[in-house]
Amino acid sequence: MSSIIQLLPDHVANQIAAGEVVQRPASVVKELLENAVDAKATDIKLIIKDAGKALVQVIDNGAGMSITDARLCFERHATSKIRLAEDLFSLGTKGFRGEALASIAAIAHVELKTKQDQEELGTQIVIEGSKFISQEAAVLPKGTSFAVKNLFFNIPARRNFLKSDTVEYRHIVDEFQRVALAHSNIHFTFYHNGSEMFNLPASTLRQRVVNVFAGKTNEKLVPVQEETEIVTIHGFVSKPEFAKKSRGEQFFFVNDRFIKSGYLHHAIMAAYDGILKDGAQPSYFLYLDVPPNAIDINIHPTKTEIKFDDEHAMYAILRASIKHSLGQFNIAPVLDFDRDANLDTPYSFKDLEGATPTIQVDRTFNPFSDDKVNRHYSGGSNTTYKKPAATSSWESLYVGLDKEEEFVATSGIEFENEMITASLFNDGEVEQTVQNTYQIHRKYIVSPIKSGMVIVDQQRAHQRVLYEQFLTNMTVHQASSQQLLFPLELYFSTTEMELIADLKLSLVNTGFVFDDSYTEHVVINGIPVNVVESEVSILLEQLLSDLQDGIPENSFSQNDSIAKSMSRSLAVKTGTSLTIKEQENLVNGLFACKEPNVSPFQKPTFITMRVEDIDKKFAV
Ligand code: ADP
Ligand code: MG
Repeated sequence: MSSIIQLLPDHVANQIAAGEVVQRPASVVKELLENAVDAKATDIKLIIKDAGKALVQVIDNGAGMSITDARLCFERHATSKIRLAEDLFSLGTKGFRGEALASIAAIAHVELKTKQDQEELGTQIVIEGSKFISQEAAVLPKGTSFAVKNLFFNIPARRNFLKSDTVEYRHIVDEFQRVALAHSNIHFTFYHNGSEMFNLPASTLRQRVVNVFAGKTNEKLVPVQEETEIVTIHGFVSKPEFAKKSRGEQFFFVNDRFIKSGYLHHAIMAAYDGILKDGAQPSYFLYLDVPPNAIDINIHPTKTEIKFDDEHAMYAILRASIKHSLGQFNIAPVLDFDRDANLDTPYSFKDLEGATPTIQVDRTFNPFSDDKVNRHYSGGSNTTYKKPAATSSWESLYVGLDKEEEFVATSGIEFENEMITASLFNDGEVEQTVQNTYQIHRKYIVSPIKSGMVIVDQQRAHQRVLYEQFLTNMTVHQASSQQLLFPLELYFSTTEMELIADLKLSLVNTGFVFDDSYTEHVVINGIPVNVVESEVSILLEQLLSDLQDGIPENSFSQNDSIAKSMSRSLAVKTGTSLTIKEQENLVNGLFACKEPNVSPFQKPTFITMRVEDIDKKFAV
């Protein structure tokens, strides 16, 4: 009888292996980022197009490869990271199986550019479906760039299996965040379709976490630190009052590798026992360092499970150290779930520079009051009116960051030492009956201030006011909505319905009430108070088009995008004439904002002119 067994050709073997290593664009992102980290890069750029379906590129400034290595790295089981089986027990790198690049090259178009520091010239290689297309010497910067295009071009079934861009993008963000959180000493940037999604300078761990998740993150972190013989633990857990309804920001890293562990998760939940509302989920960012030989490294590199030698001890140590941290920071006794949400900082800003607010206006200030003591917002002991909620815990945003030099005051517009305070419309010299705002060209509102005058762009100012209102409502879950007499029925495409489903929670937090018994179309029973019924469909339409590049991964950015989009839709436009009352409200509202200087789209909202400047113009 003739024999029937054959050895598979390499490219077939690679394609099969690829099925395991590369499930989706995010897998490529993970492998390339990890290789860049292994190459000791200090600066890593991730560039993707169409959620990675068209392009995943990683550029690093690491060690680079020699001509031979550049060619060899695409071979299966080609790795520089282990030589002997024993090396597996002292693994310090992410990769070691030498499979990733061979797999990726089997199912995509790959362009490699790489140069070692000491070399004059680098190497450029194009490989498509395991076939070498070209190799040439080229003038290149130190480091390596892998561009992976047209993933699964030769496996249509696989390609068709990919989910929507939104979903694939989210997987990529997951992988990116995991690598970025594991290596805060590396500068990461991430671009999607030409827009910068993340820019994370090398920093402390705390700051990395804050930069990745923004929002109130810094305020909610409690440090964890524990050293024992079998494990060193460091990182952060969130204060219980910041617990969320859904699991999200929960990260374990073992020896700087992201892992999932239901068992260790349980240990953390046990530490929070009794201080969390039912079903609430804490955030955690925990880094466990164990001797490499104490874990089972024979794990599949793309899997994130791990096995410890002594799981029970690990559980007990983890639980105890978190309990200790929560106790030490006095978290447990001050718990009060029903406290007034107004007293919290409602949210913060992603790109906040950490400027000390120079403008603070008290909305409750009564301009007709004669009581001069109350006039200035000084925070001093003789200030009798209620401190505006929005500024109540400003400083606490920076707890622990105060030593970081990046966080110096960089407020764009300085009002000298004089605050535009409650005295904005009443500095004693001006009669209360005098009109204090003037609209010009249905575009700007001009108002005298102590030092001169302020000119406010009405559209941008209103965007800012609405944006902060929406964000506040979304984060503190206290938006009020108006019940509709007749439910609104809106129809969207399937992709749009998917998007809306993803955004539902945030939309509900702005004041929308959905009838969840409908899945084919959207039925709305209630809308936010500041929205007019006839605007709802335009509002959602605009929102969907603003978000078509994908819904941001973390809930802060999601809220942020919704707030931006809605503020743009709803703000008064240039060309609208405003009553004096409306003008005053707008100006007051603007200066009560946390970041009055710019619109949500980073455009200036107002300018000031000092009397001296005006004087100078007349002095000619
Ligand atoms: P592994 O990471 O498991 O070793 P890979 O297929 O991911 O396998 O990579 C193969 C080899 O290619 C690596 O061992 C490394 O020597 C080299 N390599 C891959 N990416 C880079 C990079 N960005 N910089 C320098 N060398 C790299
Ligand atoms: Mg690798």
